[in-house]
Amino acid sequence: MDKEPGSSFPPAASKPGTAQLASCWARIRGRMREEVGEVEYRTWLRQMTLAGVEGDEAIVLLPTRFLRDWVRGHYGDRLKALWQSENPAIRRVDIRVAAGGNAGVTEPSPTQPEAGLAEGLAPRPPLRPLASAGIEKQDRAGDWIAPLEPRFTFDTFVVGKPNEFAHACARRVAEKPNSAGFNPLFLYGGVGLGKTHLMHSIAWALRERENASVAYMSAEKFMYRFIAALRSQSTMEFKESLRSVDVLMIDDLQFLIGKDNTQEEFFHTFNALVDSGKQIVVSSDKSPSDLNGIEDRLRTRLGWGMVADLHATTYELRLSIVEAKAHASGVAVPPKVLELLAHKITSNVRELEGALNRLIAHANLFGRNVTLESVQEVLADMLRAHDKRISIEEIQKKVAEHYNIRLTDMASPRRARAVARPRQVAMYLAKQLTQRSLPEIGRRFGNRDHTTVMHAVSRIAELMAADVAFAEDVALLRKMLET
Ligand code: ADP
Ligand code: MG
Repeated sequence: MDKEPGSSFPPAASKPGTAQLASCWARIRGRMREEVGEVEYRTWLRQMTLAGVEGDEAIVLLPTRFLRDWVRGHYGDRLKALWQSENPAIRRVDIRVAAGGNAGVTEPSPTQPEAGLAEGLAPRPPLRPLASAGIEKQDRAGDWIAPLEPRFTFDTFVVGKPNEFAHACARRVAEKPNSAGFNPLFLYGGVGLGKTHLMHSIAWALRERENASVAYMSAEKFMYRFIAALRSQSTMEFKESLRSVDVLMIDDLQFLIGKDNTQEEFFHTFNALVDSGKQIVVSSDKSPSDLNGIEDRLRTRLGWGMVADLHATTYELRLSIVEAKAHASGVAVPPKVLELLAHKITSNVRELEGALNRLIAHANLFGRNVTLESVQEVLADMLRAHDKRISIEEIQKKVAEHYNIRLTDMASPRRARAVARPRQVAMYLAKQLTQRSLPEIGRRFGNRDHTTVMHAVSRIAELMAADVAFAEDVALLRKMLET
């Protein structure tokens, strides 16, 4: 059930010839190389070869599993976007491990620079620039479904206590969309805890099994498209394209806060879809009842189905996640290292993953094993940041020393510029470097009100933006405190 009679898709019959593909591929590689720079390109991307295009899928090969995962994770979206700018019919880029080495057909030889290959083929018009894209006639939901991350599937999602409920709900929706009590599915939780991962997993599952048309987009994108439609007076098309999907997913709904007419539009789309038996999945950093700035009726509607939260990770979950990811990378990472990571990097899964990736990349690049020592070396900055708890006292002391004022002036009522400015700097740094709330910071600065702290923070940020020397000064203080 392909619901996207996309205008510019070449008919299936006119499969592009090999030469055409080769030059297309050469341009994509050239663009990647320009974008990421020579070193990165050589490290990760040079060994890519194109196996071919099958239907709506371009198949790219890499010689090892590790390179495949790395390229998938770090460049997959970009590769897909570049393919789509060459040929909008390409909906997916499948990055695989080459069977038995070099199977690619279009690896340009060294004597045939990529730029040369681009000649002889009428180049496709470049992608419409975002700002002027507007909504045109051929605009169908399929055109603006954000790409799905190939890594984000149920297979790669590690389940533990903190996320088991959200995971079970997501599974349920993927298996049986629009079942009673699960529409909408509202997933919420802090940054980097797996909301987007779960949403993409649902979308993949539904696309694969039912060939459902799933529109996934961020709330920002939704808003952007809606405003563009208003401007080009094509809101009807906008609505129709949206209402034609089977499943609508809006990620990071908190970005619709305060955007009244976008909310209104979302509300109507939402109702229309639910009424016609379509599934909605929404994510946000807060629960519906805590989403201030969302209209009441929308808030109520959002809470009608299933509301599931992703809790902060536990040590056990973090350990299972790094174990799974290390295993998938194919690089041997000693258990002690995994334990150290799970123990130290507690903020969120994204950071944890980043740390592991750095270790693996480092080991690959230098052909060394990952060891406890290499962790200290490669992740020194990360581990330190997580080790160090900076106190407000320390900040006050350093700042007072630096500006040559008395420590007691940090809490005194004196308002002379000579003491007031350093005090503001200290408040600013307290906000940046500690987890303390504004009222708490205020109390530690002579029982000042939280609005005074807020003012100090924005004042210092302003001054830093306007005055390079001052900004350097503050940066120096920060560095001294952090190390
Ligand atoms: P959010 O959308 O909640 O900010 P993401 O879904 O983008 O977070 O997750 C951040 C990163 O952490 C992603 O790379 C994701 O794959 C990974 N991640 C989060 N939770 C898990 C999990 N339970 N198992 C495996 N990977 C996870
Ligand atoms: Mg997300």
